[in-house]
Parts: sequence; structure tokens; C-alpha cells
Amino acid sequence: MNELEMQAVAQIEAAKKQLGDDLVIFAHHYQRDEVVAWADSRGDSLELSRRAAATQARYIVFCGVRFMAETAAVLARPGQHVFTPRPDAGCILADQARIAQVEAAWAALTPPPGDMVPITYVNSDAQIKGFVGRHGGATCTSANAHDVLTWAFRHYQRVLFLPDQHLGYNTAHRLEVPDDDIAVWDPRFPPTDLARFQRARLILWRGACNVHVRFLPADVQQIRDRYPTARVIVHPECREDVVALADAVGSTSYIIRTISEAPSGSVWAVGTEEHLVARLRAENPDKKVLSLREPPPYCVNMSLTRVTDLARVLTAIVSGDKTGDKTGIVEVPAETAAAARAALDRMLEITK
Ligand code: SF4
Repeated sequence: MNELEMQAVAQIEAAKKQLGDDLVIFAHHYQRDEVVAWADSRGDSLELSRRAAATQARYIVFCGVRFMAETAAVLARPGQHVFTPRPDAGCILADQARIAQVEAAWAALTPPPGDMVPITYVNSDAQIKGFVGRHGGATCTSANAHDVLTWAFRHYQRVLFLPDQHLGYNTAHRLEVPDDDIAVWDPRFPPTDLARFQRARLILWRGACNVHVRFLPADVQQIRDRYPTARVIVHPECREDVVALADAVGSTSYIIRTISEAPSGSVWAVGTEEHLVARLRAENPDKKVLSLREPPPYCVNMSLTRVTDLARVLTAIVSGDKTGDKTGIVEVPAETAAAARAALDRMLEITK
């Protein structure tokens, strides 16, 4: 640890002591260890959404990427303030669905209205969640996409699934939706022949997480050749052809639970973000935990937050500077927040 980091640690300790129960720090599993070490609560998107909705703390500091802090801001009560140490930490997946593109697609896809519902993965910005909430839809996470899509198909003829094509396809596959009933909408090249899209039960937005799509079928083959007893476990943001070859597929929390409960001596090749894989390796020394791919893919945006960023935000909060650039305060316009909250509440209701 260098001098700046040691100073940051002292500032964080002092701020935590001073703010006490007024402060809660959330950290996503993909954050660096130096940040996770200070979290009151670490989790995946669903776990952190639930805890954000339940916390009484006045100051919520969210270490993750921007859409996660926005989600906490949407769920915050009056008097609560949400901060993110790196406001520049975006999500490449979320950035692939822009509100103007989604509105244009919706207008092209929905005559006559009323039979189609939008569902968005929480990895999307507040405007997209607001759009979904306004049109009667719900958010979902990788942990509950199955339940949310089941709800959508029960109540509507057609579903527009944003913005992760692979999570949408992998979930539809589990629900036994035939490939002929699925169409993929590419927002960069919107189709002009809409007949296929108007027939499809599920329209997937062509978007992907640039970390998870890097795992390839050849990686699975290489692991099996090298470690014949290895079990391959992957996140559903991975490509369908990788999921098809894996032994298990599930959300971040599912991956953590499965490996921690596995027998000693077992070998796991994990297809997800490297910070999490490295932590699983450290926390399960009796098992062999490998990345499914070498070199392992990691999320550049999740890696941005350093202990010094956390210290800067906490120091600014303590000094009463809740609105300056230093704090990275996250605010969502009231109308967007209300509509996005409707989509998040619907998810929490479907999955409670
Ligand atoms: S891992 Fe993928 S989905 Fe998660 S924040 Fe990074 S780019 Fe976005």
C-alpha cells in the first residue's frame, strides 16, 4: 500500500466512525478487493437493489457502475442521498440501449398497442427503466430473469427484452421458447421489413456485456482437455453456445453459492468477471477455482473505483459537501425516477 492509499484508509476509518449508522457502503462483487473491504454490504444487482430499498441510512455510497447507483437513487426515500465514487464508471452493456433508439423501435413494433411489454435488465440507465415502467413492464436481474419473463408471457402476447441479447436468449431457452418465436432487433441497423418482428413472441435487443461475450466454446474445450474433472459454471450474459457447453449457468449469487457449497478438492472453471473469480479462489482454498479463459476478462469500468476515490467521497460527505463534483452525488429527475421505480417495484413484487 502506498502513502496515498494509507492516507485514504485513515480517512475512510474516520468517516465511517463519524457518520455511523447514517452511512452505508454498498459494493458490487466485481469491485476491487481494496474497495470491497470497506463495504457494509456486498452483493449482486438484485441483492443490492433490495438492500438499497430497505436501508434507513441517510448517505448511501455505491461502489459499482453508474446504473447501479442510479437504481439506488431511484429507490431512495426523501432525505436519503446516493453517491458514487466514480461517476465516470459506466457500463458498456447499458450504453447499448439509448432512449431515442428504444422509443423508435417501440413505435415501429407496437401497432396495435397493448399486446407487447418491455422488460429491461437492470443493467440499463434510468431513462430506459423509466420507459419500461411507463409501458407497464418490469426490470429483471440475471437472478430473476426467468421469473420476470414468465410473468411477461403470462400477461402479454409479445415481449421486448432490453438490452442483453444473451441473457434474453438464455432465459427464453430455459422457458422453451422456440427459436422461430425469437427475433433480434439491431438498433444500429433497424430493420425495414417488420413482418418477422411482428410475428415474434420475443424481440431481443442486440446488446451484450463485453466481458462475458469474450468466453468462447473453444475455452470450454481447452479447460476440459486440461482439467477433465473440472465443472464449468458460467453467467447467463455469456453467449448461448458457451452456455450450451457449460455444466451450470446462473447469476453471480448462484455462482458464489455453488462454489462455496461444492466438495473440497473439486475443480471449477468460471465464466464471469475476474475480480469475482479471484475472490472465489481466495475464499475457497480447498478447491481449484480457475477462470474459464486466459487471460481472464475483467470489467474496465468496475475496476475504476479505488480506495482513494472512496476516501474522497466520504471526506466530502463528512465536510457537508453533498452537491459538489467531489461527492459524485447521483440524482435522477423526479418523473424518470417515478417511472423507473414502477419498473423496479414490479420486479420486486414478481420475485418476492
Ligand atoms: S461486467 Fe459487463 S454488464 Fe457488468 S458493468 Fe461491466 S460491462 Fe456492464
